[in-house]
Amino acid sequence: MAATNSKSLERERAKKRIEQLRKEIEHHRYLYHVLDTQEISDAANDSLKNELVQLEKQFSELITPDSPSQRIGGVALQKFEKIRHETRQWSLDDAFTREDALRWEERNRNLLSDDATKPAQFEYEIEPKIDGLHIALTYREGVLQSAATRGDGFIGENVTHSIRTIEAVPLRLDKQIDIFIEGEIFMHKDEFEKLNQRRAKSGEPLFANPRNASAGAIRQLDPSIAAQRKLDCVVYECSNASIPIPAKQSDKLQFLRELGCKVNPYVSVQRSLEGVCNAWQEWGTRRSQENYWIDGVVVKINDIELQRRVGYTGKSPRWALALKFAPEEATTVLKDVTYQVGRTGKITPVAVFEPVKVHGTIVQHASLHNFDEIQRLDIRIGDTVIIHKAGDIIPQVKQVLKGLRPPHAQAIKPPKKCPSCGAPVHKEDSDYVDYVCSNPRCRTIFLEELTYFVGKGGLDIKGLGTKIVEHFADVGLVTKRSDIFGLQKAELLELERFAEKSADNLVAAIERARRVTLRALIRSLGIPLVGDQTASLFVGYLERSQGAIRSIRELLRAMDSITLEGLLSVHGIGERVAQSIVAFFAHAANRKELQEFEHRGVRIIREQRHQKSQIFNNKTFVLTGSLERLSRAKAQHAITQRGGTVSSSVSAKTDYVVVGLGPGSKYDKARALGVKTLNEAQFLAMIN
Ligand SMILES: [Zn+2]
Repeated sequence: MAATNSKSLERERAKKRIEQLRKEIEHHRYLYHVLDTQEISDAANDSLKNELVQLEKQFSELITPDSPSQRIGGVALQKFEKIRHETRQWSLDDAFTREDALRWEERNRNLLSDDATKPAQFEYEIEPKIDGLHIALTYREGVLQSAATRGDGFIGENVTHSIRTIEAVPLRLDKQIDIFIEGEIFMHKDEFEKLNQRRAKSGEPLFANPRNASAGAIRQLDPSIAAQRKLDCVVYECSNASIPIPAKQSDKLQFLRELGCKVNPYVSVQRSLEGVCNAWQEWGTRRSQENYWIDGVVVKINDIELQRRVGYTGKSPRWALALKFAPEEATTVLKDVTYQVGRTGKITPVAVFEPVKVHGTIVQHASLHNFDEIQRLDIRIGDTVIIHKAGDIIPQVKQVLKGLRPPHAQAIKPPKKCPSCGAPVHKEDSDYVDYVCSNPRCRTIFLEELTYFVGKGGLDIKGLGTKIVEHFADVGLVTKRSDIFGLQKAELLELERFAEKSADNLVAAIERARRVTLRALIRSLGIPLVGDQTASLFVGYLERSQGAIRSIRELLRAMDSITLEGLLSVHGIGERVAQSIVAFFAHAANRKELQEFEHRGVRIIREQRHQKSQIFNNKTFVLTGSLERLSRAKAQHAITQRGGTVSSSVSAKTDYVVVGLGPGSKYDKARALGVKTLNEAQFLAMIN
């Protein structure tokens, strides 16, 4: 009985969720197809549809004929004349992984297994898949007769009046033939940005992406709107011609080019699926360099006779496949929020999700940063959220789908106690967004501080990993940072982890760390907001204004003369950083710890500086994408060595953006703001 009950409970829950999902999906469908606008990305929408399909699979009795899962294609708007396509307009099946692609090839191979003339290896034609609007063009005796949208695949909307305004679409072909041609209408990124800038100025709503802007332009009764938006068009398919069409897909494209149509310049022929997949992967990183949106590559069997023989499924050709880039967004449910204490005592709320795959990896957690962010998102436990994750970027909660909020969704309250030590938490001041642990002896804060102090960002003492540092703290060997410099070989040997050699190595590493440059010392202290670059600026200023600093005592004495105003005069040091530095040295416990370092034999040494000419003085750089000949760290070093600073985000104050392979949104932002961009070769030329 109990089992039946829980089953019916589960079914009841699924039913509610299915109803909510259908409503939400219908809402986005209406926005997208009828109003040509978009509130969430295609990937997020697909993620919702996928959840619906999975639930309906589990409870098939809940499927209704009007469920969005039962729909195929779009429906023509009433205001346009309808056109029946000469050739059915298929949509392509999608693949997201190499395994998907391999299965596809395997299936085609099996279909031809009885065929004596089957090839040992398929040859493929591939080209980038431009994210635009599909168009079907009919020519009679070489003259453009009509242009129609895809519609439901059989019947589309007559948009000839708009398409005529696009220069890339020939009104007359170079041969007087009848032919049916298929292609893609799209908008260039820079045109799209200009369009949105104009709309922002005049207070009109912005377009979510260039496809919406193109679709919106074409599906207007007034053709001048399409003309204003400077649309482009490439073609990729033809049929029903009054003269013979070439027998290979790649030759067909050449044939279309000779007729006067525009074909994508990156069409290529691959002799194996391996080559196809490599090109697909390569496009994944270089797609942002093109001036149009690319959401994958399309692969087709090159031999048209083979295309004919493998044929079609009910809705798509078997001989073609859209190899999509892994979606960068997915939807999932927020299950819980936990808290983490950081090195500075800051308490960070962390979202816990139902595990979901985003951009190729399973995501279960994401930082919610602070309570302002929680308020801004208006996120509650039980909410369905959109998660964004691109490239190496850590996952972020982008949006809450409030239409899917369950009635019992639970508000997220700030913690009252530190999750590590249980001490009360407080805000440092009323307009400060972060809560911090009030306990100066909080174990987690101390461990984070200590790990940072000896780690790569700090003194970089080899052999002192997180585990060992924690162990030292647990057995009471290290209760403050300066204790590191008092560690004795005999003490280490008493611990299980250490043998003769490892103890010797650690003692030697600590001995080396006693001789430290002022910059490395400042950096290792973990002063909030002060990393390596700021440490360098700060030390430079300190020595310019106070003379060379040869010991910790001299450092503390010099700090007595340093003021907030003085620090603010340094290019690259802002208000919050300056305050943080001043506050750190004003704190008696910090001064005492520094004196303790000196007492334990820490000595300041001069930096071995290869003096570079300060060609980047007062210049701010932003790096994006990966450079081939320099690591990110080396590039940063090259800039700071020459007097420049490196910032993590692009603003109007940025002087240069160095653009590597696969640049992110920083590149787009630089273009939008008109900031000068440098490719790797140009950057190398500047520093050599
Ligand atoms: Zn604590």
